[in-house]
Amino acid sequence: MENFIVSARKYRPVTFNSVIGQGTVTATLKNAIKSNHLAQAYLFCGPRGVGKTTCARILSKTINCSQVTNDTEACDKCESCEAFNTNRSFNIHELDAASNNSEMI
Ligand SMILES: [Zn+2]
Repeated sequence: MENFIVSARKYRPVTFNSVIGQGTVTATLKNAIKSNHLAQAYLFCGPRGVGKTTCARILSKTINCSQVTNDTEACDKCESCEAFNTNRSFNIHELDAASNNSEMI
């Protein structure tokens, strides 16, 4: 059990191209990155399991990557990608909105 990884984490897509069923979303995000026209904020809305967190993670990884590929994907080799992959990036912080949804005291 010490190496137990939740399947949603283990099999989560790590590139825009590997996301299935959200082609319009990934194409829009890739175009925004490619044309350097990122919005101030992005809201990912929808029922669970459709890829909100996945797309948000890929977006944050890609816009922090220092060597984005010609296909507008994160390189997976630079310092930022390495930090993201090992969950030690100071620039990217994942906050689970499903658990953090009420007033903090
Ligand atoms: Zn990179």
